[in-house]
Amino acid sequence: MRARLCPRQYAPTMPTPRVASRLAPFGTSIFAEMTALAAKHNAINLSQGFPDFDGPEFLKHAAAEAMAHAHNQYARTQGVPLLNEAIANWCERRWGACDALPRDPHAQITVTSGCTEALAACCLGLLEPGDEVIAFEPFYDAYPADIAMAGAAIRGVPLRPSVSRGHAGHETRAGSKPTRRFAFNPDELRAAFTPRTRAVLLNTPHNPTGKVFTREELTLLAELCNAHNAIVIADEVYERLTFDGADHLSIATLPGMADRTITLSSLGKTFSLTGWKIGWAIAPTHLTAGIRAAHQFLTFATASPLQHAAALALSSPQGESYVQSLRHDYAERRRYLCDALTELGFDILEPEGTYFIMADHAALSARLKLTPDGAPDDFAFCRWLASEASVAAIPPSVFYHNKAEGRRLVRFAFCKRPETLEKAVACLRRALA
Ligand code: PMP
Ligand code: GLN
Repeated sequence: MRARLCPRQYAPTMPTPRVASRLAPFGTSIFAEMTALAAKHNAINLSQGFPDFDGPEFLKHAAAEAMAHAHNQYARTQGVPLLNEAIANWCERRWGACDALPRDPHAQITVTSGCTEALAACCLGLLEPGDEVIAFEPFYDAYPADIAMAGAAIRGVPLRPSVSRGHAGHETRAGSKPTRRFAFNPDELRAAFTPRTRAVLLNTPHNPTGKVFTREELTLLAELCNAHNAIVIADEVYERLTFDGADHLSIATLPGMADRTITLSSLGKTFSLTGWKIGWAIAPTHLTAGIRAAHQFLTFATASPLQHAAALALSSPQGESYVQSLRHDYAERRRYLCDALTELGFDILEPEGTYFIMADHAALSARLKLTPDGAPDDFAFCRWLASEASVAAIPPSVFYHNKAEGRRLVRFAFCKRPETLEKAVACLRRALA
């Protein structure tokens, strides 16, 4: 019998962790780290963006039915035909008639394991080493890693709290006048394009800022992409989560963009099924070629029974009424948490979309003297939040190249049950009293 190794015997010979140099700089994902910190302190988890309630019953049943009816072998690599067709129809309902509509869903839509895989497939299948990709900063943590895995370089264009004209539909609350929102400087965007620019990785509605890019902003971006012959990888996973009249617009539908845009989305946020990891990429066939070249070797295909249920989510009236009621619920939870955080002393920029709120904690941090010099530090603040207030949140400096830009901010997720948000606010109130 082999002797069991006790940890002490094992430790001296443990190899040091080995990570390829492409990935070494990225460490452990902040979402895993903060969810673990929440568990350690038994804190209410407003960090990682996943609902703390279950997905819709009719979709769970549909998945179980699909399993019971033998949809359990490899799916077609580009997706179960029913789902490719449902995605095309979902798109048509949102976009109306336009050049970007996938005329052939089987040739222009690729079903992937979440938007996460679609992002990786776009980068690995379409970029060459040395290419440059523009992305708006703060960026979702997978973007720099995917771009690095492809051997390309990322160029950040900062989004900063600015006074700018928002969405026409904002008249309800903010009026049509310029308002304080996250915006980019058009000159900084123009300057980011170089002869090496191959793609722009756009995320709208934007995680973590909650910005929904306006028609005016997307039109400028489209003009620059056309002028520089760049493609756009548009991550639209929060496409249905918009508030107060902010209109989500897909850049693929703007003039000249149908042939140079890949639109990505997934089921996770829209149907509260983040664990299913069903995503997709819609693209003209010449770009689909690169996406599929990578997809076939990354995962080959995605969970068959879940694809059947996903088709029902996207094509049934029940699916649409679920989305409408989720939008309504999230609008209320957003209002509740924005108001509560403001009252507690955070300076917030109300999100136009997503289920995140970015809040400025500088005044509170100074009062709490969390750093020796009183300068705001998002990690110090999040550690304090978890250990002293029993609430976990995300330190957004991880989403910036220039970490200083994120130090005074903290990201809260409101995709949680009302009672979870109420408990979190009560904890914050107690800790900040
Ligand atoms: N893009 C953004 C902007 C996200 O916030 C997330 C997080 N869910 C993803 C992509 C990943 O999506 P999925 O869960 O479908 O892989
Ligand atoms: N998108 C989610 C967020 O921003 C997390 C996804 C993940 O854990 N990878 O919180």
